[in-house]
Amino acid sequence: MSQLTPSDHVVVVGAGLAGWRVVESLRRDGFTGEVTLIGDEPHAPYDRPPLSKQVLSGKWDVAKTTLATSSQLADSAATLRLGVRAIRLDVESTTVELAEGSLVAGTHVILATGARARALHFPAAGELPSLRNHDDVVRLGGVLEGLAPGGVVAVIGGGFVGAEVATSLTARGLRPVVLEAAARPLLGVLGEEVSAWLERLPADAGVELRTNQRLVDVALVEAGYELLFDDGSRLRANAVLAAVGSALDTAWLEGSGLTIDDGVVVDADLQAAPNVAAIGDVARFRWTSSLGEELVRIEHWQVAVDHASHLARYWTTGERPAAPMVPYFWSDQYGKKIQLLGHPHPSDDVALVSGTPEEGKWLALFSRDGVVTGIIALSQPRALMLSRELLTAPTTLDDALGLKPWVA
Ligand SMILES: Cc1cc2nc3c(=O)[nH]c(=O)nc-3n(C[C@H](O)[C@H](O)[C@H](O)COP(=O)(O)OP(=O)(O)OC[C@H]3O[C@@H](n4cnc5c(N)ncnc54)[C@H](O)[C@@H]3O)c2cc1C
Repeated sequence: MSQLTPSDHVVVVGAGLAGWRVVESLRRDGFTGEVTLIGDEPHAPYDRPPLSKQVLSGKWDVAKTTLATSSQLADSAATLRLGVRAIRLDVESTTVELAEGSLVAGTHVILATGARARALHFPAAGELPSLRNHDDVVRLGGVLEGLAPGGVVAVIGGGFVGAEVATSLTARGLRPVVLEAAARPLLGVLGEEVSAWLERLPADAGVELRTNQRLVDVALVEAGYELLFDDGSRLRANAVLAAVGSALDTAWLEGSGLTIDDGVVVDADLQAAPNVAAIGDVARFRWTSSLGEELVRIEHWQVAVDHASHLARYWTTGERPAAPMVPYFWSDQYGKKIQLLGHPHPSDDVALVSGTPEEGKWLALFSRDGVVTGIIALSQPRALMLSRELLTAPTTLDDALGLKPWVA
């Protein structure tokens, strides 16, 4: 890897969190060469987590989510190409072709194109609204404005975004009905025990959750939608929102010569090819966990930020982070905060080490083969952060139970 010099030109595709943070990090680390930031949304980089929380609940105007004020954009001295999509990458010449026909030839390319909401289509209703970006939340806000208090909103999917949306709808005086296909929300992500401890949150917050829901059709009716399920039952709703996970948008990179396999496959330094890197939600990267190396793709805000600083430092100085990354995720839902450190598998063993589900506050350790792989907390932020050391170096569950860093 040759380090960046002032005559280099870094082309960043994707003007979201990872794309903007890598621009900032390159400048902070002293890169003075040319930077071009390409984004298909017409907006300056903004933050997504508040969309389902503060913005949807009506507490913030969407403008408050911006990551880059006009003076920060000017200070970055990056050339902005917003509202235009990259449609082809020539890896050999590190050149990006844009949908409007022009070419941006760089010496280095960073792919930071994130993910998009997985679409749910029905013949009569078309593609159901979802929540991934600025325009989605503005559109959805407009629909919600038109609903009377108590209006029913069918939230399809009880995962993190679905739960946050339901929480925000309740704050607006609407009546969300959360429709989950599995036996419990988050079962496939957090496993049997943890999802069972979280199962009571919607009811405690006064939100109706229906599990084992197999949606077969959605029809448009007067004043909204009618949802039909495989057992013949129906639900009338004034509005619907699909929150059924994310999908990657990497079709434009097929044929580029990069390895595309559930993301852009990169090495431990986020390199996809010489002078081509991928960061954030789109990157499938080599990550060293307490149990060794894994190839992972992790859609967490903090991972995108950590990737951006790792890559910028690596390309400007050749230095790597001193310690392996500890992935971190949070979700604010039903009046509680869920926080997760590490990247546990849903089949990992779980030990509840502090609090109880009945108290509505607890901390638990995930482990595999007797080694701690993750720490999850419900409304115990301090205990969680005190326990982070259990993931910075391999720690056995037995040692963790002896150390009890969460009670310090
Ligand atoms: C509603 C919502 C709530 C969330 N809440 C949390 C939370 O509480 N905690 C947490 O840890 N994480 C949360 N996340 C996840 C977090 O926001 C993402 O992990 C983060 O945004 C990833 O950043 P990124 O830059 O990789 O991708 P994005 O932020 O998705 O940015 C990618 C950008 O690239 C653009 N793009 C894509 N393809 C092209 C192309 N071909 N040409 C040009 N531009 C392109 C996209 O339109 C987008 O603007 C949430 C996400 C959403 C949607």
